[in-house]
Amino acid sequence: MRDPRYDILFTPLKIGPVIAKNRFFQVPHCNGMGHAMPLAHAAMREVKAEGGWAVVSTEECEIHPSGDLTPYVEARLWDDRDIPALALMCDKVHAHGALAALELSHNGPTASNLYSREVLLAPSHQPSKYGYPSQARAMTRHDIREYRRWHREAAIRGQRAGMDIIYVYAAHDLSLAMHFLQRRRNQRSDEYGGSLENRVRLLREVLEDTKDAVGDRCAVALRFATEELLGPGGVELAEAKDIVAMLAELPDLWDVNLAAWYNDSVPSRFAAEGAQEPFIDFVKKTTSKPVVGVGRFTSPDTMVAQLKRGVLDMIGAARPSIADPFLPRKIEEGRIDDIRECIGCNICVSGDMTISPIRCTQNPSMGEEWRKGWHPERIAPKRSASRVLVVGGGPAGLEAARALGQRGHEVSLAEARRELGGRVTREARMPGLAEWARVRDWRMGQLDKLSNVAIYRDSPMNAQDVLDFGAEHVVLATGCHWRRDGYGRSNGAAIDGFADNPRVFTPDDLMDDRLPEGRVVVFDDDGFYYASVAAELLRQHGCDVTYVTADDSIAPWSQHTLDYRHIRKRMAELGIEPLVSHNITAFHRSTLQLENVWDHQLRELPCDAVVIVTARLPDDALYQDLLLREAEWADAGVRSVHCIGDAEAPGLIAHAVYAGHRYARELEEPASGEVAFKRHFHTEEAGDLLRER
Ligand code: ADP
Ligand code: SF4
Repeated sequence: MRDPRYDILFTPLKIGPVIAKNRFFQVPHCNGMGHAMPLAHAAMREVKAEGGWAVVSTEECEIHPSGDLTPYVEARLWDDRDIPALALMCDKVHAHGALAALELSHNGPTASNLYSREVLLAPSHQPSKYGYPSQARAMTRHDIREYRRWHREAAIRGQRAGMDIIYVYAAHDLSLAMHFLQRRRNQRSDEYGGSLENRVRLLREVLEDTKDAVGDRCAVALRFATEELLGPGGVELAEAKDIVAMLAELPDLWDVNLAAWYNDSVPSRFAAEGAQEPFIDFVKKTTSKPVVGVGRFTSPDTMVAQLKRGVLDMIGAARPSIADPFLPRKIEEGRIDDIRECIGCNICVSGDMTISPIRCTQNPSMGEEWRKGWHPERIAPKRSASRVLVVGGGPAGLEAARALGQRGHEVSLAEARRELGGRVTREARMPGLAEWARVRDWRMGQLDKLSNVAIYRDSPMNAQDVLDFGAEHVVLATGCHWRRDGYGRSNGAAIDGFADNPRVFTPDDLMDDRLPEGRVVVFDDDGFYYASVAAELLRQHGCDVTYVTADDSIAPWSQHTLDYRHIRKRMAELGIEPLVSHNITAFHRSTLQLENVWDHQLRELPCDAVVIVTARLPDDALYQDLLLREAEWADAGVRSVHCIGDAEAPGLIAHAVYAGHRYARELEEPASGEVAFKRHFHTEEAGDLLRER
């Protein structure tokens, strides 16, 4: 069973009045479901508890209408009517012997109040954080007393809901307790501003209030940012050390990390496992209380080292628990190879950012636990003895084959290339994306264990091959390729001079090691990661790189995955010139013609080659051929043909994995009706919110 090396991860730990059964702590994380979808939220947290996490936390929880986060959907405890939704989570978490934790927060100037229409509150007068055309007003002493009362009452409501750990939140630049610490947000001249002691006063008071209110039965945790990387206007490490020393024994647990969120959940492209250690390793030397920290930990050896070297007492995880809710159980059961490691792509973060239920590239069941009844480890057995042919071994094909194999089907996977993994194998060779290969590696590891799945490499399939194969079900996951003509969001037709131009390159060329030389323009019409990765690769290759986009910002969608700032910084460091609000109108010889999208002024740029990241086209020729030959299917014994993933409509790797998983789940299952998932319905009675429909 368990490797004795990992025993230390399974020793219980006392946290104030409660005991964690092991050292795995699912720290708070947003999920886009929150108070609006309490059944879905509770089911997602339950799966974590079932997977062995000793502590399962909520996301941040609004304590009052003046800290309303609309349109973002987080937890909410404004009054007693919010208790049942969180009680639901507590019951589900407790059913598996885990502790439930609640992260209370009043976001002050980082709230929106778009729903409540209250005036924003802050230590001092200041603009709201997110660019809303409004300001937050300075809190009076009366406001401070009220805030303390709201926090105290929310803590009591949390305890009534069944929470075992109540957080005081002073992290991510997202809560008043932190805002009072920050010089740039706190210019008060009373006893709550100025000296460090004064700026810490409110945090100390809220910790004391919370302990006083619920500390007999609940542990009180402090989530604290030790560094904002903003210089003296923000919390800096030196000052953070003083703050930890001042409050050392007050909380029952320290949960420490970097602020803001983009410095905490850094994409794998920009930070490795355990990257926060230099910023948090002092905490355990300063307090006798347990310390939890994060670092996208997926390796049990690294986790053990964190404990043994005295960095942490508990292994905190948000993303690793999303990619594999069963991570602790797998270590406990000696199934290290089965751990589905997070790849650090932050598609999970994009759920919160786009106000939609959480998704995960590696774990297609994330967010689907309640609404589709998908479990990350279990799947219904096959309905019949049908054989299935999967064509294409990218993320969609690999996941379809794996999940079909898990259901017990006899599966054949045919892949044209020698290598498996499709786009993830190819993209993982690009700068910073190496960890994305985990999407392939985990699936390959699982497929190795399935004797009912046969894999054929170097096996390009045509329609006749498929019809001759003798499978009842055929699923085509044949991927896509990048367009070469310039068509995309900014250009509704081919760009003048692109046709048959050997100086025009696509990301496929770069992934096939065909790189341009000299002065290169990377044209980003996609808005996510490809163009900046291509620019980085070409810079490493020695090209002079200009990054052109018709958008007003580079890579706007990367804001949703917290990549944006890191991309900007990396581009600046590498000397990649950004040129926004310009479209390409023509490319002849060594001259690229650009047009300003606002004033339509034309300009010319000397340029040896263009890499265009515009749009993709499905590689669905095989599907189309098979559709043309539908009359022959019955004689060939073929009952169904489906096209999934990038071959159906190019998208994210997460979409391809989901498509493969969904295909496997739904094969030969009864159709689910017009809406393929359960929904929450709001009715006149608040309690009805929790009634399953
Ligand atoms: P997705 O993201 O949808 O999984 P990928 O592009 O990553 O798509 O993977 C598609 C895979 O399908 C590639 O590895 C490609 O080599 C393979 N493929 C494409 N056409 C065929 C075919 N006709 N026969 C076998 N394999 C194919
Ligand atoms: Fe990790 Fe990506 Fe899944 Fe988030 S979406 S948990 S970063 S694999």
